[in-house]
Parts: sequence; C-alpha cells; structure tokens
Amino acid sequence: MVNNLYVVTPRGFCAGVEMAIKALTWMLKIYDETIYCYHEIVHNDWIVKKFKENNVKFVDNPHELPDNAIVMLSAHGTAPNIEKEFKSISLTNVNSVCPLVTKVHHEAKRFSEEGHEIIYVGHKDHDEAVGAMGVAPESMNLIENVDELEEIDLKSDNVALLAQTTLSMSDWEPIMLKAKDKYPNLKMPRKNDLCYATTNRQEAIINIAGEVDLVIVVGSSTSSNTNALVTSINNIGKEAYRVETTSDLKNINLENKNVAITAGASAPDHMVQNIVDYIKPKNIEFYIDTDETEYFPLPTELRTNIKNLSNFISSMFPENTIKSENGIKNDKRWSATKALASL
Ligand code: SF4
Repeated sequence: MVNNLYVVTPRGFCAGVEMAIKALTWMLKIYDETIYCYHEIVHNDWIVKKFKENNVKFVDNPHELPDNAIVMLSAHGTAPNIEKEFKSISLTNVNSVCPLVTKVHHEAKRFSEEGHEIIYVGHKDHDEAVGAMGVAPESMNLIENVDELEEIDLKSDNVALLAQTTLSMSDWEPIMLKAKDKYPNLKMPRKNDLCYATTNRQEAIINIAGEVDLVIVVGSSTSSNTNALVTSINNIGKEAYRVETTSDLKNINLENKNVAITAGASAPDHMVQNIVDYIKPKNIEFYIDTDETEYFPLPTELRTNIKNLSNFISSMFPENTIKSENGIKNDKRWSATKALASL
C-alpha cells in the first residue's frame, strides 16, 4: 500500500486545452453533422475517443475532406499553407490554436522577415512542430537536442532560437545555453517559448519530488508535455512513470512508497481520480504549488457563429425568455470537463 500520496496542483487541463475542447463541443452542438478536425484536438486518447463517438472525424490532410465540410483546426497550430487549403475546401473553418502557439508562429514570421536563420527546438513529427515549421520553412531548422545543435551548420551569423511550447525545462536549458555560446548574436523572444502550463506543472512536481520515492504522471504517450514531466523528474534522478489507466500500474512497485501524482495538460481529471481511488493510499495530501487563473476565450469565428445563432433564435422566438446558462458571456464558468460531460 502507498504511504503518502501527494496530489499536485497545477495538473491537467491548461487554458489552451480548455478552450479547444469547449470549442469542438460547441461545433457539435451548432452543426448537426460530422465535424472534421485537423489532427487530434488535444493529445489525449480518452478525449479523442469521446469526440469520435460523437461524430468528429480526425483527419491528417485537407484532401480527406468531403465538399463543404465543417472544419476545426486543432490546438497545436496549423501551417499557414495547410490552413489556406482547408479554408478553400471547407464551408466553415474554426481554428482552435492555443494563443501561446500562435505567439511562436508570429515570432517565426518576424525573425524570418528580418532575415534570420531560425533554429526551432522541438519534437520531429509532433503536430505543434510541424505547424510551426510551416510558418517559414525556408529559414527554419528543426533540432531535438544538443548534439543536433552542434552538428547544424548555418551559413549566417544572424540566428534566432525558438521552441515548442511543451519541452521539458531540463532539456531546453542546455540547448539554449549551447546556442548562446555557438551564436554570440543569437536572438530570442523576450520571454522563452515554453508556456506557463508546461513550466508550472514541471516546477510543481520538481518542488515536491524531494518528499517522495516516485512520481506518477497521468497522460497519453502522444502528449509532449506529459512526456516532458516524466523527463523532468528522471533528469533529477528520480523514478517517474507515465500511466493512463490503472492497468498501467501493474508493473510499478508502490508498496510502502511515498508517491506524487500529476497530469499532463491534456489529461482529464477523472483519469487522476481513477488512479487515486485504485491506489487507496494510507494518507492523501494536496500539494498546491501555484494557482492558475489563465483563461483563453473561444476562437473569434466561433464566437461570431454563436452570437449570430443566438440572435437568430431570439428573432424567431421572441416569446422565449429563457436565458442560456452556457452562452458566450458565461464561457469562463463552463469548464471543458462540463463540456465533455454534456456530449
Ligand atoms: S500546453 Fe501550453 S501551449 Fe499547449 S495548449 Fe496548453 S497553454 Fe497552450
């Protein structure tokens, strides 16, 4: 039996994931037909399955769309040429990209227009990296680690450094230091690209790691920030395991251990709760490292659609005095967990 179990805050859904899940839920409620979503809306197998069961089809290519499709672009960001292609084929197109990913796209565009060679640190083939690299493919170079940074041979001294938002800080920092060393005129954004949710979750689990024997990280294998949480703990010499369901616990020795549990930014909290219920520790402590208050509004196109729909209903049914609990004005109060439960 586990001795002390520390349930760590912040964990789980970030503001970008909250927004993307609610946006896709709204799309299902507004349009009574299949919604085509470019890439997994967020990297969590349970959430993807839930949307698939509710008439969302995930596609990897605009050519998979039928004519006049209703389309949503995922939270990870879409390369401009791909977005253009989707727009030219679809009837309605809503982009649920996280604003913090958009920030990196803007930086890539700006540095490229200023004539910089850009080194982008990210995971090859990850949706976010693919989208970002598509912003300025002629001037961007993707690397994953310090070795690749050493090997890269840029012709210019005018170099900028950008990153995927979900890297582990312990992987990012040596690359950043090496890049500063290799390129004395290196340009970087004023605030580095690792997002608040990534850094808060990593800092929280690192801060409690000294009290425990091992760490459980809840999330899918496709989730970069989940994997980064595991890496962050491994890099300070501690055991960490990524799990999705209770069956993943079978090979982990939890007997008489002190354990901390956290979750990646796309993992629903009921998955954490299932693990806690299964473990049945002798004692549970709630460790709150930071309170997050970030909120990202729904995509503009979707807000406009919802307002138009609401105005239409009001004009068609003037006698209706019932106000919607979950209208745009109350969006902050409607969580992604409630949205998923409403499907
Ligand atoms: S992990 Fe960070 S960048 Fe990714 S969706 Fe969440 S807030 Fe946005």
